[in-house]
Amino acid sequence: MNKSELLSLFSSDYEKYYKVSLFEKLGFIRQSCSICSRFFWAIPQRSICPDHENYTFIGNPPTSKRLSYTQSWEKIRDYFKENGHTIVNRYPVVCRWRDDLYYTIASIVDFQRVADNKVMFELPGNPLVVPQMCLRFNDIENVGVTGRHYTSFCMVGQTCDADSEGGYWKDRCIELDFGLLVDIFGISPAEITFVEDVWIGAGAFGSSLEYFVRGLELGNAVFTEFEGNEKNHRVLKNKIIDMGAGLERLSWITNGTPTSYDCTFEPILKRIYDTSGIDNPFSSNGNYNLQSKILSDYFSRISAKLESTSDILQVKKQLAQELSIDFEKLQKIVVPYESLYTIIDHTRTLVFAISDGSLPSNVGGGYNLRVILRRTLSLLKQLGLGLKVGDIVDMHLDQLQPLYSELMDYRNDIHEVLEIESKRFLETQERIVAISTKIRKGKTILSLDDLIRLYESDGVTPDYLVENALLESVPANFYTRLSELHSTSRSEKRDKNEFKLDDNVDLDKITGTKLLYYDDPSILSFDAKILRIINKNLIILDKTAFYPRGGGQEPDFGYIGAHKVDNVVKIKDKVLHHVIGTFEQKEGDIINCVVEKDRRLSITKNHTATHIINHASKSVLGSWVWQNSAYKDETYARLDITHHSALSRDEMQEIERKANDIIRRNLPVLINFYARGVAEQNYSFRIYQGGVVPSNDVRIVNIGGLDIEACGGTHVFNTGELGLIKIIKTERIQDGVVRIEFVAGANALNRVQAQDDQIQYIANKLGTNREKVLDTFSKNMDDLDKSKKKIKSLIRSISNSTVEQTIKDSVVLKSESDANRFLNYYFKIDEELDDQFHLLVGQNSVERNPDLVYVSIVIVESKSAKVIVFCGKNALKIMKANVLANHISKMLGGSGGGTPNFGQGGGTILENRQDLENMLKKSLLEKLNDLNE
Ligand SMILES: [Zn+2]
Ligand SMILES: [Zn+2]
Repeated sequence: MNKSELLSLFSSDYEKYYKVSLFEKLGFIRQSCSICSRFFWAIPQRSICPDHENYTFIGNPPTSKRLSYTQSWEKIRDYFKENGHTIVNRYPVVCRWRDDLYYTIASIVDFQRVADNKVMFELPGNPLVVPQMCLRFNDIENVGVTGRHYTSFCMVGQTCDADSEGGYWKDRCIELDFGLLVDIFGISPAEITFVEDVWIGAGAFGSSLEYFVRGLELGNAVFTEFEGNEKNHRVLKNKIIDMGAGLERLSWITNGTPTSYDCTFEPILKRIYDTSGIDNPFSSNGNYNLQSKILSDYFSRISAKLESTSDILQVKKQLAQELSIDFEKLQKIVVPYESLYTIIDHTRTLVFAISDGSLPSNVGGGYNLRVILRRTLSLLKQLGLGLKVGDIVDMHLDQLQPLYSELMDYRNDIHEVLEIESKRFLETQERIVAISTKIRKGKTILSLDDLIRLYESDGVTPDYLVENALLESVPANFYTRLSELHSTSRSEKRDKNEFKLDDNVDLDKITGTKLLYYDDPSILSFDAKILRIINKNLIILDKTAFYPRGGGQEPDFGYIGAHKVDNVVKIKDKVLHHVIGTFEQKEGDIINCVVEKDRRLSITKNHTATHIINHASKSVLGSWVWQNSAYKDETYARLDITHHSALSRDEMQEIERKANDIIRRNLPVLINFYARGVAEQNYSFRIYQGGVVPSNDVRIVNIGGLDIEACGGTHVFNTGELGLIKIIKTERIQDGVVRIEFVAGANALNRVQAQDDQIQYIANKLGTNREKVLDTFSKNMDDLDKSKKKIKSLIRSISNSTVEQTIKDSVVLKSESDANRFLNYYFKIDEELDDQFHLLVGQNSVERNPDLVYVSIVIVESKSAKVIVFCGKNALKIMKANVLANHISKMLGGSGGGTPNFGQGGGTILENRQDLENMLKKSLLEKLNDLNE
């Protein structure tokens, strides 16, 4: 069933679905739109539904009250509180409790938990109201332009479970929303229109009423009533009301400013107008100059004209005609304001996203943040106001303090992240200039794909190209397309079940395995009944103490009877043990099983250390640190954290110190089960470090109140049991992710001892003791440098005599037919002196004797050879140095080249090197006798 079919079904029974008591009481008349036939309810007679109406409130608000953005929320909050609603703090904009969303896109998302494709609602109050900041990146181009689009906006969510205590249904909901508009905002009842609509999603559906004032949709009350589909549906046991209203719009309707940005961002815009020299076009003194008149006319029309799908450029051109102004001129007046609105919107989004732990990056949800930050930086530069993005951050924080005081804790973090990211962007600018020059030369028209490629691989924003006259305008769908490319589901790879089971194996028919390690991790030996043997080596027991691979923790090993267990996995509620060889026992037998104790203990310590490292990293680095993924094995563990840069050595050591401090404090590790909603409210969404927990019963691991996570792994009882955590290595493995490798417990000591052994070995080699190893080492390095210098001057001083000796040692090769045709040939395989020596001697020798061919093969560490060939001025007429060098190198299994005077090369096949001298002599003689040359 599609939306319109459902709508006509509900509208045909409007008494049941839409006629609320308020309509009857106040005489709302049900009417049909003369354009689209849609049904709506209003007190006065109207011919069309609000969909086709202009924004007539602009410049003429329907109320005498003027409510600022924050005042609007305060009024709403007080009103609903007086009417028995719980006021709930906003949830994070980073949606950690759903693995299908990066960001919170609507207020109702706060309360939805998804498991097995089924949505459940968990309300922390009933009824409730939440001022939920929502992030949406599907309309980026429209932001700043339409007057009403945002990448972040506050959805006032009025939510209730109709069938639980405190709940209400349609009559009360509409009565409350109507009361808000009339009693609190001072809007006349005759101004309000309710439009019949429907809502379908996530296996549920219901009717809805959208309410409009003077063409502006203010809110939408969704009544989720049924589950299933049109053929097979039933009334939900708990019907849900989800009314969402944009705070930006509610403030706008009372102010009637040309755009909603003018009131939403009023204090920020005022500060920028006051200090930047940009005219405040909408100042309240009423003295509009010509420019502000144009702006006012323009924005009041464009707001109403644009639907998100329209071609903005086309609409603008049309508007220029209507306003009788040249399009270019209009753009010149309008674009700076559009840019300013965009900058402020994007910066606000960054404030919320970074506060809630998301980082700009190249992957996942972080991608959108990088896009809007780079766009903001480009626009800021273009505007040339001398403002930094950080200045606007501070303005937002000042404005938002009464609404979202929690943001204040993150001021420094937001600044730090934005500074690092901005610096990175500026560093790419030079490269961008080079690319721009190339584009200019090529004079090609850039396609959308070209633009995306330029952005992706070189960080060139199309705004920059427009700024530099390389592009006429940013394609309408550029930023949306970019976001789409990166908005694949955020679900990360789950633990893989690597056993291929035959189709005829029906696990559903087997009873779930009782998990002994949950109740008592000290059980390592137990008797169990064999329920099923698959492929003669996969065993399912009625209960098990074997921990199966999961949550990044590697499985236990051990024995089932006499059979060695080398892998354990969990499929749904069944644990499968893999044994080496063929399993001899029968199904139904009782068998003794033993878990390998040392392995379990090591893994348990490494696992607990992961929690501790996570906490230590966050406290050393910043609030944006989250677990990206983790792996815990017997002798090794790693934690991948979200962080913007590679770790310095100081940071790494500070994390190590913090972690070991937690060990020394011997803090208790408490494990308790909580209802999911309770866990979230008590411990915040930071519990979801390892991802979403699909069950309603959450196992919370609390390490001394410092690190509190939902986790199903095995842990020690007190942090002191870990003894020691040693970080082995840190590495930036991808943009925004840093890997920390470490070991805990006895393995950590082994690691330290191994490093200690290495130092001892070095000390012995240096002929010193451990205490003096550093001093001795640097002295040796100094000595080495000095020796090298000495050798160089020594070579220089002896080279004269060496050159003479070389010429003396060379043999004369003569052509048999022509006595005037001859060469001097010098050949040396040198295992002692290096190439520097031969370069000097060779060069000088051929200068002294132009008939000389100088060949030296320098053996490096008995493993490879460097070939050096010089040919004197006369000699190169017969044999060229580069040709000879290549010839020799090939015989050594390599290759060479150079100039006729000087050639070099090398190889690694050294077996036949002693034969080279005569072979070369032979080929030189051939050359001498070859008179065709
Ligand atoms: Zn209509
Ligand atoms: Zn854990």
